[in-house]
Amino acid sequence: MRVANYYGPEDLRVESVDEAVLGSNEVRIDVVAAGICGTDLHEYTGGPDLTPAEGTTHPLTNASLPVPLGHEFSGTVVEVGSDVSEVAEGDAVTVNPALVCGECRYCSEGRHNLCESVANIGLSARSGGFSEQAVVPAANVVPLPAGIPVEYGALVEPLSVGLHAVRRSGMQAGDSVAVFGAGPIGISIVQAVAAGGATEVFVSEPRRKRREIAEMVGATTTLDPMADDSVDVINASTNGGVDVAFEAVGIEPTFRAAIESTKRGGQITCVGISDDDVGLTPNELVVVERTINGSNGYLSGPLADREFRMAVQYLESGEFDPEAMITGRIRLDDIVEDGFEDLLDPDSEHVKILVEP
Ligand SMILES: [Zn+2]
Ligand SMILES: [Zn+2]
Repeated sequence: MRVANYYGPEDLRVESVDEAVLGSNEVRIDVVAAGICGTDLHEYTGGPDLTPAEGTTHPLTNASLPVPLGHEFSGTVVEVGSDVSEVAEGDAVTVNPALVCGECRYCSEGRHNLCESVANIGLSARSGGFSEQAVVPAANVVPLPAGIPVEYGALVEPLSVGLHAVRRSGMQAGDSVAVFGAGPIGISIVQAVAAGGATEVFVSEPRRKRREIAEMVGATTTLDPMADDSVDVINASTNGGVDVAFEAVGIEPTFRAAIESTKRGGQITCVGISDDDVGLTPNELVVVERTINGSNGYLSGPLADREFRMAVQYLESGEFDPEAMITGRIRLDDIVEDGFEDLLDPDSEHVKILVEP
C-alpha cells in the first residue's frame, strides 16, 4: 500500500508499507481524495509541531515518526471491524480526524476540541489520508449522501472549521461580516457566513485568484490590502465597522485590521494559527466593549459528527460550493512536487489541492 510518510521538515516520502491491522472498532477506507492543508505545509516547512517530535511517541496514540499525513479525506469503506455496526462496507464516508482522550478536564466538560491529549489522524496517528487506504475508528466516520461526489467529502473538514468559527462568533442572520484572509479556512468562513445569512461580507486578501473565489462563494466586497486600506473602506461603508470580523491569517496586520474594522460592541473571532505577538491595547476592547475569541477546529469526541453533518448538508443543498475551492487534483506519487512545493510557492494560485490516490 502506498502512503506519504512524514519524517521531518522537507522530508515527505511516498513509500510502500504493509496494510494496517484492523481493530474491532475500526473501519478500513479506500481513500478517494485527501486535501493538502496549511497545517500540512507548516509541518513540512517547520515541523514537527502537531506531528510527534523526533524520538517521542504521542501520549494518546503512541505514534512516532514517520507518520502518514492527510487529515482531510473521504473514501469508501471496504472493511469493518467485528464490533462496528454504524457503518457498512461500501458506504461513502468522510472522517473527523480528531482523537481525544475522553478523560481530561476538557473532555469531561464536553469541550473535546480542547482535549489536553488530542491527536489527529493524518498528523499524530498510525493512519492518514495521503494513502491508498486508511484505518480509523468507526466513531470518527461521517456518512456522505449518495447525491454528492465522494471526493467532495475531503472538503468537509475545512468547511467544518469555518462553520465552527461562525458558531463560535455568534454571528446572526442580517449581520455584516469582514473576513481577513481567503485561504481554505477564510473561504470556508465566507461560505458559512453566507449560508448563515450575513448581509454584507467583506473579504480582504492580497491574492487576486483568492478574491475571485471569495466572490464566487458569497463575498459582496473584496479588497486587496496591498492596494486599498481595507479598514477605511469597511468602516466607511458600514457606518463604523462590521458586526463580526474573522481573522484567518495569524499575523499582526490582519489581527489589527480585524479589530479596527469591527464596530463598537462587535465581535472578533480568530482562527489564524500563530505564535507571534500581535499588538493590542486594552482600550480597543474596554471602552468600546469589543469581544475577541478564538476558534479551534470543530466539535469532536462524542460530537464528532455534529458539525461535519452540517457541512455535509450544506454541500448537499448546494449552499457550500466545494468546486470553487478545489484548484488542483494530483496523484499521490506527485504530492511533494505538484502539491506541497506548489502550494508553498508565493505566486501559487492554488487554494485546495486534492490528492487522489
Ligand atoms: Zn486541515
Ligand atoms: Zn481529553
